[in-house]
This record gives sequence, C-alpha cells and structure tokens, in this order.
Amino acid sequence: MLAPDFDYDAVRRDMPEARVMRGEAYAAKGWVDLVEVFPTGVLAHVTGERGIAYVVEVAVPDGSDARCTCPDFEDSGLRCKHVVATVFTVLDADDAALEAAAGRLTRLTDLLEMEGRDDAGLAVERARRDPALLRALEGEPVS
Ligand SMILES: [Zn+2]
Repeated sequence: MLAPDFDYDAVRRDMPEARVMRGEAYAAKGWVDLVEVFPTGVLAHVTGERGIAYVVEVAVPDGSDARCTCPDFEDSGLRCKHVVATVFTVLDADDAALEAAAGRLTRLTDLLEMEGRDDAGLAVERARRDPALLRALEGEPVS
C-alpha cells in the first residue's frame, strides 16, 4: 500500500510545543490504535489520560482538516495532541504495521460474516467511530 505521506513539520506548525510533546508521548506509550490507513489519511482511536478513547481523523499532508472527538478539539477546532500522536504513530510505523491497519476492518468484516453475523458490515462501520465496540468485535471468539 501507499503510506500516507504526512508533512510532520506542517502538522506541528503553530501548535504550542507542550501540546506537540504530549502528543509524541502518547504515541510513544502506544496509546494510538490505527483503525484505518489510506494513502490519503488515517483514522485512529487514541486513548487519553483518563482512559477515554477519542476518534481522530487526519488527512495528508498537514492535517489542516483534522478532526478529533476530544473536548479540546471540539472547543477550539485546533489540532490537538491526539492529532499529533496519530501522525507521529503513522510516521513511526513500519510497513507491516501500516499494511495490518490498512486491511484491519476488511478482515474484521470477513471474520464476522464467517461467524454468521448478518449485520457485519453495519457493525464494523459503527465500530470505526466507537472504540469500545471495535474492541468488543475483535475480541469475539471465532466459533
Ligand atoms: Zn483530541
């Protein structure tokens, strides 16, 4: 696959240094769960300090149209530490990790369909924006 080609300097531009450092720390702690990776961007679930997972979408190259469900972003509309964490994680990931993320939801849909779930497509679509649901679906035993 073609990895999203982020311009990290542009993503960080105009952001307070403390916010960038916190985002990088989140990435280093492994708090970013890459859900979908496209050549044009990424969707991730990022766990915050209080254990709440936020849904983050960032498009290449600079995340100027990024979205996050955290209160910080919703109040200010400015790129938050979760956006930094997501981009940093993508840039730090190896090809295998990016490939795994790129095919993740397709594999999950196939698995649920094999298990006989009629609503597999709908469930996985909802799970894109519902971190707890995604974990539950992926944790379901194969029967
Ligand atoms: Zn955020």
